[in-house]
Amino acid sequence: MSDFYRHTKIIATLGPATESEAMITRLITEGVDIFRLNMAHASQEWVEEVMAVIRRTSTEIGRHVGVMMDVKGPEIRTGMVEAPILVKAGDRFEFHIETAEPPAGSPAVSVNYPGLPGDLDVGATVLVDSGLIRMKVLEKDAERVRCEVLTPGTIGSKRHLNLPGVTVNLPALTAKDEGDLRAGVAAGIDFVALSFVRQASDIGTLRTFLERLESNARIIAKIEDQAGVRNMKEIVCEADGIMVARGDLGIEIDYHKLPLVQTELIRACLAEGKPVIIATHLLETMITSPMPTRAEISDVSNAIREQADAVMLSGETTTGAYPLESVEVMKNIIRSIEPTVPSQLNPEIRLREPKAKMLRSAAVLAQELGNSGIVVFTRSGFLAYVLGALRARGVPIYAFTDVEPVFRQLLLPWGVEPFLIEFSDDPEETILNALDYLKRKDWVASGDWLVVITNILAHKTIVDALQLRQVK
Ligand code: PEP
Repeated sequence: MSDFYRHTKIIATLGPATESEAMITRLITEGVDIFRLNMAHASQEWVEEVMAVIRRTSTEIGRHVGVMMDVKGPEIRTGMVEAPILVKAGDRFEFHIETAEPPAGSPAVSVNYPGLPGDLDVGATVLVDSGLIRMKVLEKDAERVRCEVLTPGTIGSKRHLNLPGVTVNLPALTAKDEGDLRAGVAAGIDFVALSFVRQASDIGTLRTFLERLESNARIIAKIEDQAGVRNMKEIVCEADGIMVARGDLGIEIDYHKLPLVQTELIRACLAEGKPVIIATHLLETMITSPMPTRAEISDVSNAIREQADAVMLSGETTTGAYPLESVEVMKNIIRSIEPTVPSQLNPEIRLREPKAKMLRSAAVLAQELGNSGIVVFTRSGFLAYVLGALRARGVPIYAFTDVEPVFRQLLLPWGVEPFLIEFSDDPEETILNALDYLKRKDWVASGDWLVVITNILAHKTIVDALQLRQVK
């Protein structure tokens, strides 16, 4: 079996430390499955450039990766400040809408959201810069919110604001998101991660926009506030996958409940057969240190034991000093922990179509055979996504498709190893080509047993079939 095979996938966010052709090449070789482009910090020109590099290098190396564009959604940010503002506990600080005059002589900053004074009540909490600075609202009018600083810090330009428990009246997709998506779709992105998804209709809004652009990119809903948590079941049903965006989530909900919400989201995804990504702070200290902390190793292990589809690197690979080492650490932890994950098939999954139910039998058979795998042919990706969601530990899912965008979208689900081949009109020839390909590339050897999901022609009727094949 190839050295690359893992059930759990690795996502790496690209940034200044990794955007060069040399680093992208090394990250792909090291085992990254999907690159994330974080539009909070990226320009549309950069997307075009970096996409070209990713596609070119992966073709040269012969190992392909998916690309996920992460759009910011309804995010509130402060405006520019001339110099960073130092605030101490007990200080007064003002946020005002962009059209309001700044107050004379007292510290203040504008915000990009004119609805802020309306949405906040006196006594509400405002968190600045990913929760580093905490403030309490003392008074407000139509244009301004005056706060007392509770936790000191320094406020720079364009800092992110969190308003825990407040329902913000911003659209799911901003004008900036739409521009970013146009650039991303033109460059050929495979996934879109939408920030601050609060309800299922947010996904509908994005899907309609993508359809207008004739994009089939899969939609990953980032759950990062209380509304997203409250509506997780309907969001999971509507989205193509979920990201547990623990950076913001850990600020927006009680931090000590974060592990409970992570488990709940993973379960909700397992029940619906949707992929789930665990994001943020998995190896945070590796931004500056070549080794993770013991707690980080345990956190990554926990995500693997909970059977998340993917673990994601952010700062570790955008600005960190040890991006390659971070991927290596992820891989090593996955390799050690995966064999200890229970081999019981996903007991929660709701399989609706008869063909999807057949896949469970395929997974049972492959596990019974031992040292086996499942071969599946798919044009939409559906069967491979369901097979991944069954969590047949120890059973590689070799997914063959003749649709290039689907091929890259199959890089996300747990255990799925996708291949792009031509399909023949004769199903038998397609199967033989696929088995031959697997053998040539050392994924399987003569004598190995494989479970093949295919269809056969019975007189004039096409019948779904599950076959047992031995590699010649
Ligand atoms: C997060 O908050 O965990 C996250 C992934 O989103 P972002 O990096 O965009 O803040």
